[in-house]
Amino acid sequence: MVKKICVIGAGSSGLTAIKCCLDEDLEPTCFESSDDIGGLWRFKETPEDDRASIYKSVIINTSKEMMCFSDYPIPDEFPNYMHNSKIMEYFRMYAKNFNLLKYIRLKTSVCSVRRHPDFATTGQWDVVTECDGKKESHIFDGILICSGHHTFPHLPLHSFPGIEKFKGQYFHSRDYKNPQAFQDKRVIVIGIGNSGGDLAVEISSVAKQVYLSTRRGAWVVNRVCDEGFPLDVVLYSRYRLLLKQFMTTEMLNNWAEKKMNARFNHENYGIKPKHRISSQHPTINDDLPNRIIAGKVLMKCNVKEFTETDAIFEDGTVEKNIDAVFFATGYSFSFPFFDDPALKVVNNKIPLYKMVFPPVLEKTTVACIGLIQPIGAIMPLSELQARWATRVFKGLCKLPSKDDMLADIAIKKRELECRYVESPRHTIQVDFLEYLDELASQICVKPNVLRFLFTDPKLAWELFFGPCTPYQYRLTGDGKWPGARKAILSQRDRIIKPTKTRVLDDDMTKHKSPISFLLKILSIFAILSAIYFVYI
Ligand code: FAD
Ligand code: NAP
Repeated sequence: MVKKICVIGAGSSGLTAIKCCLDEDLEPTCFESSDDIGGLWRFKETPEDDRASIYKSVIINTSKEMMCFSDYPIPDEFPNYMHNSKIMEYFRMYAKNFNLLKYIRLKTSVCSVRRHPDFATTGQWDVVTECDGKKESHIFDGILICSGHHTFPHLPLHSFPGIEKFKGQYFHSRDYKNPQAFQDKRVIVIGIGNSGGDLAVEISSVAKQVYLSTRRGAWVVNRVCDEGFPLDVVLYSRYRLLLKQFMTTEMLNNWAEKKMNARFNHENYGIKPKHRISSQHPTINDDLPNRIIAGKVLMKCNVKEFTETDAIFEDGTVEKNIDAVFFATGYSFSFPFFDDPALKVVNNKIPLYKMVFPPVLEKTTVACIGLIQPIGAIMPLSELQARWATRVFKGLCKLPSKDDMLADIAIKKRELECRYVESPRHTIQVDFLEYLDELASQICVKPNVLRFLFTDPKLAWELFFGPCTPYQYRLTGDGKWPGARKAILSQRDRIIKPTKTRVLDDDMTKHKSPISFLLKILSIFAILSAIYFVYI
């Protein structure tokens, strides 16, 4: 009998979850509470309750080749870092191409999910939905929760005494849409995550003065990396992953921090944190140092207290006549519709096996998709999670015993606690490439570079030295996509095409040097010995 799967949410995670159900011959029904697909990436002029909200100018900070779904490359001409409208265009193309829309019931909220009375034997769930005020009950064989984790604002007003007396306006960053209302105003932005950085930069283009307040500072990374390539394209290759294994965390931190400080000295710019770069989710911002050097953004420490008009900082300085305060203080997540102790979230913490499966159920028929904070794009990770979950639901993949899953969860939790500074934003962190490989190994689709070296050396070269793009997980095994090889070999062209819009004469630009040939030969030796160390 075909299993019926409930997909909650039609954002990027929900869309790929529907596709994965179809690939496994499962029967998905996706409930989306809003009137459209795209989740967070669909811009709306006013924030809506219970749905993520973005500002008009948001440009994604993960690049197109690294964020695409693994069997559907983003068109050549799309920019590497896309505006939210372009991202929506891609999601709509994906949904249309794989005919996903007919499985989505828009304007339908999932109100509750409970274990069916026969859950212990069937693993089924009772789901109640609501559309136009009408409630409907359903029974499903499996649930894929794709409801996002950037919906509910974390607004720590209790940490800011006096805010109740403050006569200016204050908001959470999710309420910010554009800078117009802040023309000639004096504005404080609290928090130096990616929202805080983006808001400070944008508001400072019109405001009289912006103060960016941080309780511990941050290392600020550029989107545009070596030779102008996107940051994630440069960082995430198997070659670099291998090098990483031969370096200590101290060495990696020293290397990265030196690079960050070469761009602008973090101490001189008042941003330097006490912790090392690997201990915090990165803040990506190309413009912040420009705004600081122009005096439009001034860095400040934590706010100790607000008065009716002023902000008093922990270093004793006072900024007077503040008009507006933005709390760019992040998000909390929960599943208000899920009435089950297995999905209980406490302080942004939830024990899930490899961030996907609750380990304590008699039947594993529920999975969380996209409940991760990767240092990189979330979309290909959600996709691999959904590929794995649907195979578990179908009985094609087996999970370890409850005790083994709990032991794995405990190890991961300890690793997170040792690595990251304590903060509610660091409870679901994953490393992009390592986590992709970990998920891929569950469904046996991690590419074997050594084997390709003998069967397809050109591909092996790009797999090892090139950016580790999601197509790598469609080369072999179940879910193999015939276009994967071509997509990998043409990825560099798709990266360069949207920037090289003024093409120069070939003869003038291509310098063929004997040194580059020598370097290639040397690299072949490097690849062979590297692969030897990793795989043999
Ligand atoms: P969402 O996009 O939030 O979608 C969840 C969907 O579920 C929504 O449509 C919602 O309406 C629906 N829903 C929720 N509850 C219910 C219910 N009970 N019933 C029915 N429907 C429901 N990630 C990156 O990879 N790269 C980036 O550069 C990046 N930039 C970001 C910028 C900002 C400002 C923010 C806030 C986040 C950013 N993220 C980024 C993270 C972002 O969360 C993901 O990119 C992505 O949107 C997650 O998709 P999702 O489908 O998991 O969740
Ligand atoms: P975030 O990453 O959770 O950052 C929250 C910030 O607020 C941190 O600096 C945190 O400091 C600070 N903070 C939290 N509680 C505080 C308190 N009580 N007092 C003082 N400071 C406090 O949230 P975000 O910046 O909104 O980002 C959310 C997600 O959206 C991330 O995935 C991010 O990458 C993404 N995003 C992407 C873009 C983009 O692509 N352009 C733009 C915006 C956001 P600590 O570190 O000390 O906890």
